[in-house]
Amino acid sequence: MRFETRAIHAGLEIGNPSKAIIPPISPSTIYEIDADGRNDSDFHYTRLGNPNRLQFEKVAAFLEGGEAAAAFSSGIAAGMAILQSLNPGDHILIPEDVYSGNRRMVQKIMTNWNLESSFINMTETGSIESSIKPNTRLLWIETPSNPLMRITDIAESAALAKSRGLITVVDNTWPTPVNQRPLELGADIVLHSTSKYFGGHSDILGGIVVSAKHDDFFEKIRVIQRFGGAVPSPQDCWMLSRSTRTLAYRMRGHNENADAAARFLEGHHRVTEVYYPGLESFYGHDIAKKQMTGFGGMISFLIDGNREDAIKMVAKSKLIKRATSLGGVESTWEHRRSSEGEGSVTPETLIRLSVGLEHPLDIIDDLAISLGD
Ligand SMILES: *Cc1c(COP(=O)(O)O)cnc(C)c1O
Repeated sequence: MRFETRAIHAGLEIGNPSKAIIPPISPSTIYEIDADGRNDSDFHYTRLGNPNRLQFEKVAAFLEGGEAAAAFSSGIAAGMAILQSLNPGDHILIPEDVYSGNRRMVQKIMTNWNLESSFINMTETGSIESSIKPNTRLLWIETPSNPLMRITDIAESAALAKSRGLITVVDNTWPTPVNQRPLELGADIVLHSTSKYFGGHSDILGGIVVSAKHDDFFEKIRVIQRFGGAVPSPQDCWMLSRSTRTLAYRMRGHNENADAAARFLEGHHRVTEVYYPGLESFYGHDIAKKQMTGFGGMISFLIDGNREDAIKMVAKSKLIKRATSLGGVESTWEHRRSSEGEGSVTPETLIRLSVGLEHPLDIIDDLAISLGD
């Protein structure tokens, strides 16, 4: 079955004895133990597993083309579980402009546990190669990156990583498996903040790890999920499964609307630079075209002027809401540097826009109002 069909039908039989078309939420934290004291079913205590979580994991694994998946209570918890599966003293390569929350997680938490890291430019495979050290174990890719939309060639980097014995992890939150399928390009693990497009309505916090192989490294991640305990609730998993059924169609709308908005911005006299992988003028367009089937709903752009001008512009919109995060049906934007806070190297005139599913002409009208003098 194909992507759209699987998104709607996969895993519906799990925890669904009455064959309801929509499986029920299973709020119970505990499951009955057999009379002989054993419990051979999948479910025992909800932190260890429950039908709603298993169902969402199954759907996510299908959509990314992996053998196994583990759901977490946030994208950051999912990312941290991957890094906690390494050993103290191991070294990782991670993009210099990685999502700022992941940067903080590495620097403020994992470094204390003796994880070594190099934050590097990943637009050239050569710079990845020259940064590999004897104790390097993992290559962490985020493409397009956040907020500068830098593009890393996944197939080339994953092949290099494999030849040097490294695990390749791709944070696929922005593209989603609708637009980019890293496991098919040779990556070992895909990670998502499901708070974004998977949830899609700005009302769920979550994360998921999908592994190409059900191997020993994935089992370590599973142990951290179950015994570390950063798990999503059955209610959240049920909501996520519900949202995932429309993921493919929502992403098509995000792709289409963002393309229209990016082209409008590119032609506007107050905009000096548009970072959107779908634009032919974008430096990473050729690699993006090779590995993405759609270019996503996120746009960053620079305006002429200074920090105050950018903040003023974001304040002028009537439709686009000022908020961080991304991936909702409503368009949102922010002066990104203010959100990233301490240590941010994002340009002061950069505005980051999450293009929603409103009518594209209404989004463009609102951009025109906000950019107007
Ligand atoms: C939001 C985000 C995360 C972190 O996810 P949370 O659900 O907020 O913990 C990780 N990576 C990327 C690319 C993100 O946008």
